[in-house]
Amino acid sequence: MPDKSKTRMRELDPSYRIGCFEEVALGYNMEEALKEASRCLQCKNEPCIAGCPVEIDIPGFIKALRDGDLGKSANLLKSANNLPAICGRVCPQERQCEARCVLGRVPGGEPVAIGRLERFVADLDIPVETVIKRPRSARVAVIGAGPAGLTVAADLAREGFKVTIYEAFHTAGGVLVYGIPEFRLPKSIVSKEVEFVKELGVEFVFNEIVGRTIPFEEIVDKYAAVFVGIGAGAPRFMGIPGSNLNNIFSASEFLTRVNLMKAYLFPEYDTPVKIKDRVAVIGAGNVTMDAARTAKRLGAKEVHVVYRRSEDEMPARLEEYHHAIEESIQFHWLTLPVEYSGDINNNVTGMKCVRMTLGEPDSSGRRRPVPVDGSEFIMEVDMVIEAIGQTPNAILRAGFPSIGLNKWGSIDADESTGAVNLKGVYAGGDIVTGAATVIEAMGAGKRSAVAIKKFLLEG
Ligand code: FAD
Ligand code: SF4
Ligand code: SF4
Repeated sequence: MPDKSKTRMRELDPSYRIGCFEEVALGYNMEEALKEASRCLQCKNEPCIAGCPVEIDIPGFIKALRDGDLGKSANLLKSANNLPAICGRVCPQERQCEARCVLGRVPGGEPVAIGRLERFVADLDIPVETVIKRPRSARVAVIGAGPAGLTVAADLAREGFKVTIYEAFHTAGGVLVYGIPEFRLPKSIVSKEVEFVKELGVEFVFNEIVGRTIPFEEIVDKYAAVFVGIGAGAPRFMGIPGSNLNNIFSASEFLTRVNLMKAYLFPEYDTPVKIKDRVAVIGAGNVTMDAARTAKRLGAKEVHVVYRRSEDEMPARLEEYHHAIEESIQFHWLTLPVEYSGDINNNVTGMKCVRMTLGEPDSSGRRRPVPVDGSEFIMEVDMVIEAIGQTPNAILRAGFPSIGLNKWGSIDADESTGAVNLKGVYAGGDIVTGAATVIEAMGAGKRSAVAIKKFLLEG
């Protein structure tokens, strides 16, 4: 029987890493990777594959690694997943592939560390054999260079289609570059995997906001098929009294300023962000953890995460939560801010909060938080970052008026193909599902690539 526990991954010491933006998780070396790979039972029914939205041959790539055939391992990975070094780092593996691993079902056992092995093989940078089919005349436009757009573009380019990605920013990656911080996902890793997509022949047009600097209809007329993967980039706000006080930010703005505008490299980059001593971050998802850990690195003395549900309902990746605890981030469960207060200069100084308890499950299946009468108290803070979710940007309604939306204001698209109400137009990723995960967006991109190919070849 293999070891019950995963092979540990080396990490930067918390006392060192809170003073810098270097990557926290250091990955496996060859010896550690082989040790972990040897735990895999090579199950004949391959249950882990069903947990991976891009259907990587998990037992296959692990076996090749174990056999020392690193080229085969890298090829197996990359043939299913265009962005393995990214996914190995940021996938919520505990809810995806690793949740299905039989070793996790043994009492006290941990699944094979599939994500860490994927990262290890991807980071070896072994050139892979990419088969690009003979060129086809049909041209496809992809709007948005996030994980969904990059995936659909790469898969169609492999099929021989000429693909052009239109991206609003000056660089590709979407949330991978402007949301997820350097200490979790180095931007050099994103650039390397974007480079691979370019090598497949995908063309990029940057600084083009479809629906504003170029009409959506012009793109629909010019291309045989169009994929819309513009993400859910607009923040949700608490909307409680006092929200207009100074030093209250959305996590999107805070993280974009730090990541894309490199505020953490001030004065080398002249775009500082102001950080206060006592920072509250509201929420409990990956965005919350990223904002809290970023604030700590930028010099906050205390960072408090405030969440209205309990630890059990926390949506963040477990690894990030554990890293946050190691970095002295303080957690306040079952606590809801209801009002901000400020000083005579309109700077926030405190949050009135109520304690919550958990009632019956709501539509999300999670137990509904209910306020406890008479439990109000004041938490003193001098900066607040709201990280309570994302919605589609207003440009969706204004710039893509012919696309049908669902009741949540996201694009109404067929789940298995991404097809929308317009012929030849597809959509996927956060703009369809609402804020979700990298691998779900990539899974949607993959399914749309299959559907677009069928549409272009069979009509
Ligand atoms: P996006 O990544 O949002 O990409 C959309 C792209 O479209 C962007 O590049 C945008 O600039 C571009 N665009 C928008 N409008 C236009 C337009 N009109 N014209 C042209 N281009 C346009 N997921 C995980 O799995 N693990 C994590 O650890 C994780 N951490 C996260 C941390 C943060 C801070 C955030 C914000 C999200 C995190 N997520 C995580 C969620 C994940 O990043 C998203 O689910 C994923 O990026 C969605 O991919 P997408 O391609 O649909 O959209
Ligand atoms: Fe697991 Fe994500 Fe890798 Fe798929 S891409 S095998 S879900 S870590
Ligand atoms: Fe290996 Fe686990 Fe997949 Fe079985 S379920 S093949 S042990 S990774």
